[in-house]
Amino acid sequence: MRARFAAIVVGVCGLIGCARVSAPSYHGEPSDHFDGKRFHNYVQFRDQQIEDALRRANREIFHRRNDWPDWEEVSTDVPPKRVGVGVLRVTFVNHATVLLQMDSVNILTDPVWSERISPLSWYGPKRHRPPGIRFEDLPPIDVVLLSHNHYDHMDVPTLHRLVDRFHPRIITGLGNAAFLARQGIPGAQDIDWWQSTPLAPGIRAEGVPAQHWSARSLNDKWRTLWLGFVIEAPGGPIYFAGDTGFGEFFTMIRDHFAPFRFAMLPIAPARPRSAMAPRHMSAGDAVRAYQLLGVSNAMALHFGTFQQGDDTEHEPVDSLNQAILNARPCDVRIWALRNGETRFVPPLNDSTRPSRRGSGHDHESPHGVSVARTSPPQADSAGRDARPTSPCSTHAR
Ligand SMILES: [Zn+2]
Repeated sequence: MRARFAAIVVGVCGLIGCARVSAPSYHGEPSDHFDGKRFHNYVQFRDQQIEDALRRANREIFHRRNDWPDWEEVSTDVPPKRVGVGVLRVTFVNHATVLLQMDSVNILTDPVWSERISPLSWYGPKRHRPPGIRFEDLPPIDVVLLSHNHYDHMDVPTLHRLVDRFHPRIITGLGNAAFLARQGIPGAQDIDWWQSTPLAPGIRAEGVPAQHWSARSLNDKWRTLWLGFVIEAPGGPIYFAGDTGFGEFFTMIRDHFAPFRFAMLPIAPARPRSAMAPRHMSAGDAVRAYQLLGVSNAMALHFGTFQQGDDTEHEPVDSLNQAILNARPCDVRIWALRNGETRFVPPLNDSTRPSRRGSGHDHESPHGVSVARTSPPQADSAGRDARPTSPCSTHAR
């Protein structure tokens, strides 16, 4: 009982400690996902911050880590400096960090090279594997996409290292640029859901909805925007889901962009399911999203690096393999890449090139960068699979 009380104290103290690094509130026009003070999802779910903290304390203090190893070495990739026009080379660093090399542009998603994803150096989820690319082996990074402000996605020490070395553009959700500026990282660009910005000739990034939340501490929940990204490029659109639960917004994204050349979809933490389902996709949810979105090839994210739920170490990939084998039609190609593993993704055929719905118009963002906002398509409940079927022999790994 005394130990359990200590766990609660440590968990709550950890959250209070976060208050010193709170994100400032966003000020802007209300929208269908911003009430003038807080952002919200299309579907509401109950705040679980205290329960999450207690579950984490239980793992940290009682070492209830299921079968997770303390540390496991991985092989690392040394990427080329650039790839040529038409090529898409993807490398899974780990967690939600992916290096996308395409058409002479190098993009990193949610880069995390830190040892621990926490405001505290001594407490919080610790990595079980090193990144699949050594930081010193990174090619020049032109663009960083940040999906939201949770510590496992917006890692300020890593961003400082990237800015010092490469001076990349940083694109993120509304309100996060002000927080980053306060952390000594000025010049990031905020975008909204359904707002886009050019990255290079012929390549744009557009913010799309996600079903999640934001918080750096107890007193800044829902104050900055969480989002996914679609990179529109000549070989077909590429979707980075960030961190999200499964929701009807996938239909909206499908209607706006499908078919997709490539998608990056989270598959964990999945348990306890009742707590995780609204805000974290399981492997089964990722397969549903893949089928709904009309994706050619996809890779799994958000597994095997930090223990964040009750999932055992290999459970997410095992579940993904099972979900792929059970899927009908049998055409699911979602890779669970090893850390540092690379794949080349072919472009879409001309017959499956994306056709955009909705018309956009360019205007100036608060940072003076040209952006376009398009009207979000209306969701409908009928999921459909736009891909032809293939033999049911695909495994995640
Ligand atoms: Zn998150």
